[in-house]
Amino acid sequence: MNIEIFGGINEIGGNKIFISAGDKKFLFDFGLSFSDNNQYFSEFLNPRKFNGIIDYIYLDLIPPLNNLYRNDLITPFSDVLNSKHYNITPSNQNIVDAFFLTHAHMDHYKFIGFLKKGTPIYVNWISDTILDYLSKASTDPLLSDILNFYESFKLVPKKKKKASEEEIQYKRANKNDYSHSEIKRKIIIMDEEKPYKFNSTKGEILINQYKTDHSIPGACSYIITNDGTSIIYTGDFRMHGAHKEWVNNFMQKAKEANPIAIITEGTRVPTLEDFKNGSYRSENQSEDDVEIRSRDLIRKHSGLILVNCPTRNLDRLLLYYSLAKENDRTFAITPKIFQLIDSFRMRLDNMDETEIKEFYKHYHLPNFHDKHFKVYLPRKGWGIFESKDYKGYDKEVFKIKNYITYKDIKTNPEQFILYLDYFMTTELIDLDQPENSVLFINSTTDPFNEEMLLKEDKLNAWLNRFGVLKTETIHSSGHCNVDDLISFLKEIDADNIIPVHTNHPEVFKNFGLNGKIILPKKGKTYTF
Ligand SMILES: [Zn+2]
Ligand SMILES: [Zn+2]
Repeated sequence: MNIEIFGGINEIGGNKIFISAGDKKFLFDFGLSFSDNNQYFSEFLNPRKFNGIIDYIYLDLIPPLNNLYRNDLITPFSDVLNSKHYNITPSNQNIVDAFFLTHAHMDHYKFIGFLKKGTPIYVNWISDTILDYLSKASTDPLLSDILNFYESFKLVPKKKKKASEEEIQYKRANKNDYSHSEIKRKIIIMDEEKPYKFNSTKGEILINQYKTDHSIPGACSYIITNDGTSIIYTGDFRMHGAHKEWVNNFMQKAKEANPIAIITEGTRVPTLEDFKNGSYRSENQSEDDVEIRSRDLIRKHSGLILVNCPTRNLDRLLLYYSLAKENDRTFAITPKIFQLIDSFRMRLDNMDETEIKEFYKHYHLPNFHDKHFKVYLPRKGWGIFESKDYKGYDKEVFKIKNYITYKDIKTNPEQFILYLDYFMTTELIDLDQPENSVLFINSTTDPFNEEMLLKEDKLNAWLNRFGVLKTETIHSSGHCNVDDLISFLKEIDADNIIPVHTNHPEVFKNFGLNGKIILPKKGKTYTF
């Protein structure tokens, strides 16, 4: 089997991993490298949709490979892409026989929409639900092309005004001009621990997906087997979260596969110096610690409680919901978070009893009318809570009237835990609470780049202005801590270890593993 890696090398995220055997080639994740992207772009400076894949190729955000990208993104730019430098031409060949996603984080899914239309996309139903939700709720223009296929630069005939008009005139297609069959991508909803079989010139290839634990539901790992040889790909994972048993199960299966190679994440692996002096251990907070510390703070505080937490981390959202319930408060969340929960509820409506039970065992979703879980509707438009002030999902929320506003919280602050992030700080003016009466639980990752630091400063300024008490960071990483990672890798004991999704792959050499550490090079083929 062969492995070629085009992203996630010496960087956290942006994984793009090809695994092949005989004439079959599979792509695992096709994500955005945050560090490469942030070098050129920011919140308000983005690659241009009208330039197809060009902006991304030029800046090395996606690899310059032929027979990978959609023809409608190549043809209009043939003069550039067909040059000696790139040698990318429109074609009906596809180097990817199937795409597999580990989880719905942008550094893993961002560029799926660039893949050729016929590429089968394997995801589990949870990631599929999140991607579908994101394609409606996010402003990222690439998202709509992941589960559907909207051909770019398409012209359609204009409707004739008079039957006598002879010449057909064309217009640019909008979403309504595409037929259902035209936009349908080949999405295959994968079941876990069930082998998906592919026949290659080197015999049968089996691909198995396993549940793992990460800061988003639906995260999974893979075992790829051909002719008695197995390769493991961990995706992103942790062993200190709420679903340890999933990771332990995968670890056993990976060990039994006696793998020739493991491609593993190493997000939290520190510099060699910090590894040797052990200082990295100070950052180990588990999801249980988050629960204990949050429970204690919520119980002791009598006024309004604000909480900032990751919005797609279902474990964390449901933690604050359960703590609100425990203290007879209402967890008031944004319409977007409510929409995510709603997406899951709607999907579960069509599933059978055992699947629903299994999901609820791990993620106990509030029901639609739960008084402890409500949408906080901010003021929009004219700011007077009229239907005209809202659009999209917010309008739905407004119509159903299942929401609260600043007025409810202002009158009974002690009855609420309100989700509040940087973009909602202006609500503090409307909430108008006395100084030192409001607690802000900081349940999110510490800023790790300039843009985040600037936002953190502004958030702090708002909290200071309103005399809001801010807690220390109460957060547990979505990634494996180093000691857990070492024992995980020792247990699986692969012959070769290929670190990705890490800034310090070379430090793996000091882990005391039996296998050989391979520091991958972009685009190089490793054969096992
Ligand atoms: Zn990642
Ligand atoms: Zn992730």
